[in-house]
Amino acid sequence: MFDLKGKVAIVTGGNGGIGLGMAKGLAVAGARVVVAARNKDKSRAAVEAINAIGGGEARAIEVDVADEASVAALIKKTVDACERLDILVNNAGINIRKPPDALTLAEWREVLETNLTSAYLCSHAAYAPMKKAGGGKIINIGSMMSIFGASFTPAYAASKGGIVQFTKSCACAWAKDHIQVNAVLPGWIDTELTVRAREQVTGLHENVLKRTPAGRWGVADDFRGIAVFLASPASDFVTGTAIPVDGGYSIQG
Ligand code: NDP
Repeated sequence: MFDLKGKVAIVTGGNGGIGLGMAKGLAVAGARVVVAARNKDKSRAAVEAINAIGGGEARAIEVDVADEASVAALIKKTVDACERLDILVNNAGINIRKPPDALTLAEWREVLETNLTSAYLCSHAAYAPMKKAGGGKIINIGSMMSIFGASFTPAYAASKGGIVQFTKSCACAWAKDHIQVNAVLPGWIDTELTVRAREQVTGLHENVLKRTPAGRWGVADDFRGIAVFLASPASDFVTGTAIPVDGGYSIQG
């Protein structure tokens, strides 16, 4: 039920953090994984780390997910090299932490294009090969900011709220093609993205510990299991939903 042998997966932003955690899970379950990001050195190291744990073979393909031509090239190179595409994880993301009155239009656009337009571009381009493969799985990465707001994340929260609605729309459109589309909403996870948040937001570290019933920050490996579930036949009747992976952060009143 959880076997991914013979499947091909693209993980955007798969060279670190949550993306690498998901890529490892998919590879262990047997999928061949394409690590798709910009930084070549980080991607090379990620491929080595994935291949070291065994399972499906990993490779790296450079991409800027905010660029239409670059995304088209990613999908083409993947299908040329692996002959199919079954799983897409739209994980690449950034944050610029400023209140709305200080955020520039360029910054707004950068966050929206990297976090939300990218999911459209990658899903749009992945649809044809997935349909050809007889079905597929798309996993979009949202956030607690898909549910809540915060004074310092106007563009990020807008992008992550948008991810959930985009997920539902794709799920409705592509169910007929046996493509399931779901979102994962990570809680507070210890990655490069949140190292800066801890520096920029006073008291964040302690507040997360206080509010999270699990009593800890998440780690990248917490995403191995949900990636395998949402990429495998185990989730064939699950579509359009948004699943928090947050140690209970979002259930506290
Ligand atoms: P990291 O900063 O560790 O990873 C972000 C990844 O995105 C990197 O691999 C980076 O690779 C890639 N990336 C960024 N911009 C682009 C681009 N234009 N083109 C291609 N790749 C890009 O962060 P996380 O692992 O924490 O974040 C992963 C996802 O999880 C994001 O969508 C984030 O919003 C979300 N998330 C994270 C939470 C957390 O607490 N950490 C909480 C909720 C959601 P490179 O720079 O090489 O391109």
